[in-house]
Amino acid sequence: MRTETPPIVRLEDYRPSDHLIDRVDLDVRLDPRDTRVSATLSLRPNPVGRAGAPLVLDGDDLVLLALDLDGQAPPPDAYRADASGLTLHAPPQRPFTLRIETRLDPTANTKLMGLYRSGGVYCTQCEADGFRRITYFLDRPDVLSVYTTRIEAEREAAPILLGNGNPVEAGEIPGTGRHFAVWHDPLPKPAYLFALVGGRLDRVAKRFTTMEDRAVEIAVYVEPGKAERAAYALDAVERSMAWDETAFGRAYDLDVFNVVAVSDFNMGAMENKGLNIFNDKYVLASPETATDADYAAIEAIIAHEYFHNWSGNRVTCRDWFQLCLKEGLTVFRDQEFSSDMRSRAVHRIAEVRTLRARQFPEDAGPLAHPVRPRQYAEINNFYTATVYEKGAEIVRMLRTLIGEASFREGMDRYFADNDGTAATVEDFLKAFETVTGRDLSRFAEWYERPGTPRVAVSGRYDAGARTYRLDFRQTRPGAGADAPPLVIPVRLGLIGPDGPLAEATGDAVENGVFVLDGAEASLTFADVAAEPVPSLFRDFSAPVRVESDLDDAARLTLLRHDTDDFNRWEAAQRVAMRIMTAQVRGQDADAVAFVGALGAFLDAHALRNPAFAAQVLALPSEGDIADEIGTNIDPDAIFQARRDLRRRLGADLRARLTALREALSEPAGASFSPDAAPAGRRALRNAALDLIAAADAQAGIDLARAQIAAATNMTDRLAGLATLALLPGEAREAALAAFVERYADEPLVLDKWFGLQAMIPEADTVARIRRLQGHPAFAMTNPNRVRALVGSFSLANPTQFNRPDGAGYDLVAETVLALDGTNPQVAARLMTAFGSWRRLESGRREAAEKVLRRIAATPGLSRDVADIGARSLGG
Ligand code: ZN
Repeated sequence: MRTETPPIVRLEDYRPSDHLIDRVDLDVRLDPRDTRVSATLSLRPNPVGRAGAPLVLDGDDLVLLALDLDGQAPPPDAYRADASGLTLHAPPQRPFTLRIETRLDPTANTKLMGLYRSGGVYCTQCEADGFRRITYFLDRPDVLSVYTTRIEAEREAAPILLGNGNPVEAGEIPGTGRHFAVWHDPLPKPAYLFALVGGRLDRVAKRFTTMEDRAVEIAVYVEPGKAERAAYALDAVERSMAWDETAFGRAYDLDVFNVVAVSDFNMGAMENKGLNIFNDKYVLASPETATDADYAAIEAIIAHEYFHNWSGNRVTCRDWFQLCLKEGLTVFRDQEFSSDMRSRAVHRIAEVRTLRARQFPEDAGPLAHPVRPRQYAEINNFYTATVYEKGAEIVRMLRTLIGEASFREGMDRYFADNDGTAATVEDFLKAFETVTGRDLSRFAEWYERPGTPRVAVSGRYDAGARTYRLDFRQTRPGAGADAPPLVIPVRLGLIGPDGPLAEATGDAVENGVFVLDGAEASLTFADVAAEPVPSLFRDFSAPVRVESDLDDAARLTLLRHDTDDFNRWEAAQRVAMRIMTAQVRGQDADAVAFVGALGAFLDAHALRNPAFAAQVLALPSEGDIADEIGTNIDPDAIFQARRDLRRRLGADLRARLTALREALSEPAGASFSPDAAPAGRRALRNAALDLIAAADAQAGIDLARAQIAAATNMTDRLAGLATLALLPGEAREAALAAFVERYADEPLVLDKWFGLQAMIPEADTVARIRRLQGHPAFAMTNPNRVRALVGSFSLANPTQFNRPDGAGYDLVAETVLALDGTNPQVAARLMTAFGSWRRLESGRREAAEKVLRRIAATPGLSRDVADIGARSLGG
């Protein structure tokens, strides 16, 4: 807790540590209230540090019990220690050993950073700066040490003891009921990758032999009784290991790889070396409890954390400004993995939906920051969509620019040159410069400034000359007036009235890519037989907003004929967006051509590619529409426009949608598979259900109830319930009641139930949420519960969160403040929902600002919430 303005950390102030820690020997005696940690640190002056500098170790909430230096207690005036640090004023100018004993209370640790208990399980979370809550340390990512960890606990309470690296020893402590295990991690790592676990857990395991012939024991640990639900995660680890070998030539490097699922966790998961710790939401799955989306998320996050073993752990970050070096790159890698496991185009669409839903609004509001920020007050507030998702897009653009083969070569080079070190974005780019001989300094500008670029494109056909010319102009809102133009890869092609114009050649197009690297540029195609429609930014080749002069008819030609599935989807989205924004603006919202084209599209493709068809049927979200409109946003008008178009589609396509539901129904007795193909069929059936229900409430109720009654998996059951949730009345309340009764002992399933109710776009939802906050299954101490009930509300219920009377804002503000004292990280993240307040119409804008100011003025705020408050109101 603090009241003064927090200190700002700046990239330009980076300097290497004055000391290094080569080895860390930890002895941790676990106890619910009185855990003892003895840390023996082998220190030495850093040759590139300042000679004779004091040793300043970080601490957070620590209690020092004992200290000695080379075996002797230092005199009291030789050091200073308090809860937040330990300073040795004149440390030896040679290698020396410090032994530090601290006392921890893991039960009282509600921040879920450092060592804490989740359920009865001891676990740790050290990224970004949690290790300093365990012992005094140089808690910065460029100090790499070899760790040996001895863990001791009561055998009864914690029969399983896990650490980083390989197990080396275990045994009983006779006569005490206690036992111990020793783990050794041979690879030097920063403190943020440290982890330990102690508890009663069930285990599933599998052998994997790496391409280097190392036998690895992969294990997943879960709450007792839930082992069956760990099978899919275990399988995903195995597939990730195999994939990283073939796709990137990266083999695993320890004898064991452990994954532990815990129920109280601030984020998705954590890549601790050899001991990944997960939010159990991203491990546990069964057909009865998990949706297809859950299975896909488990697969992606398991892969993400596993891939960090190379992109993050073997090569780590010099400082936290380089966070995208590991996160953007690892997101890119997990996206590629999921694309290979599933449908590439469908996955790309999902990636872009996420980017637009999260990153575009962030980049357009007061919390905007560069992919590599240059300053921060609280680093935990920079695990953002910009660092992760836009960071991944930069890696993807790099591959598009240099080609797959050079990209792979550059990645090999990056790993080879930086293995075992703490690297920077410059080191990353240098590897690609080395293998291609190209200068990437202008490309590097993507990392430096915030804001989503806009690219305006217009085309002109010259029938006489048979040429087609495209003019491009880029602008960079938010990046500052002096921002140089970006290097933007534009993947493109031309489409004629009957299909792609293969013979047309663009003068500066290489492998289907045009590189826009000035403020303006044009490109001319020769041999163009008829007026074409340009298919621009295929596969979403750059994270930009495209402003093109194409009309609906041209876009619907793309939906029909483009060879790029992403752009076919995009064409339908753009037309739907045009119709809905026109309605919001009181303009002509004619949908006849759109509905006709969708009908034809369904006839031609729905049964051949249901997953893709489901994406085409899913209209841009209310948030997407708000982001498109950009200013003076009225969420109610947006809601109506979207509902009207859904109604229209449901009514006009009713016969087709009904027939599709029939044709796609699972044969009775079919066993459940979470694979992409059956999941795609379920997605289309449920997209059809949503539209039918939008047009005909009674039909929706009947279909949804029948679907719930017959459901053999959570995807179909939840889709039925989600349909009912939008239809007020008895049927909805009865279905909600039956659901909570059925899953009373399944917190992760109840999160879906909380979430659906939080998203009901009706006036009494705020009251409903307040009621649910008192439900026995709800707990403010559990981040998943809070995100399910309050997070879903703030992110996915725009009309009620942005109620003109401010009641939605009040609810979220109260939750932020109630949580801030116990878990500031989760409180701050919840608060980012206010990030788009400036774009609202004036009444709501004033209401939101008032609430933001109230939060910001609250005394004793955490640094996390104070930082989000200050930035949301500034800028
Ligand atoms: Zn990550």
